[in-house]
Amino acid sequence: MRIDIITLFPEMCEAVLSESIIGRAVKKGAVEIVYHQLRDFAFDKHRRVDDTPYGGGMGMVMKCEPIALCFEALCDELGFKPHLIYMSPAGKVLNQSRVKELACEYENICILCGHYEGVDQRVLDLLVDEEISVGDYVLTGGELPAMVLSDAICRMLPGVLSNDECFTQESHYNGLLEYPQYTKPAVWRDMEVPAVLLSGHHANVESWREEQSVIRTEKLRPDMLEKYSISDKSRK
Ligand code: SAM
Repeated sequence: MRIDIITLFPEMCEAVLSESIIGRAVKKGAVEIVYHQLRDFAFDKHRRVDDTPYGGGMGMVMKCEPIALCFEALCDELGFKPHLIYMSPAGKVLNQSRVKELACEYENICILCGHYEGVDQRVLDLLVDEEISVGDYVLTGGELPAMVLSDAICRMLPGVLSNDECFTQESHYNGLLEYPQYTKPAVWRDMEVPAVLLSGHHANVESWREEQSVIRTEKLRPDMLEKYSISDKSRK
């Protein structure tokens, strides 16, 4: 997969996405991430990418033309229009199943990061395929959300994690939270690791984990367990 990120702060995104697991995935070619400096497509004297809002009010709004020129240059380079996602607090809140769909459905996605008061509505109407939010709160810019989305997609691509179980066994993949995890030492400050995990009995470990996954979801995210039970009933 190739991910293109249109932003006023490419260095910010690259600094994060070139580290750790995603950084290694980029180095070995499991995913390509290309950063586009929006200001390079502002051709007026002051290279302005924003202006005051029509109707008055606070803040600045990102102008249409630099975004359109940047995206059109990308389309020309690729030879087709990639799926364009605008990171926005007004978008549909991201979840694991949408991440999985994006990872499976698209070879190319482009992410547009807003700033200031956001982007002129006309560019959204003309070019954007989908608006995605990372939660019901407002951040200063779309860069952190773009990094969140890129990381979540990349770790589901083949060759990024050591095998698919790394994400299929994790929280949210099947609608529940993951079971509790422990590592050495077996006793830490008088707190013991559950005996079953030291037993070497794989079937017992498996059923303990399944049970704990439900208990933990019930305790921490009862809303998820309710949805899980409903979809479980509808499967029967
Ligand atoms: N005026 C906008 C509003 O009230 O909906 C908020 C603009 S916000 C300060 C600037 C940019 O940050 C947005 O254009 C968007 O790209 C990004 N952003 C902020 N919160 C976000 C969220 N929860 N999810 C995704 N992107 C977000």
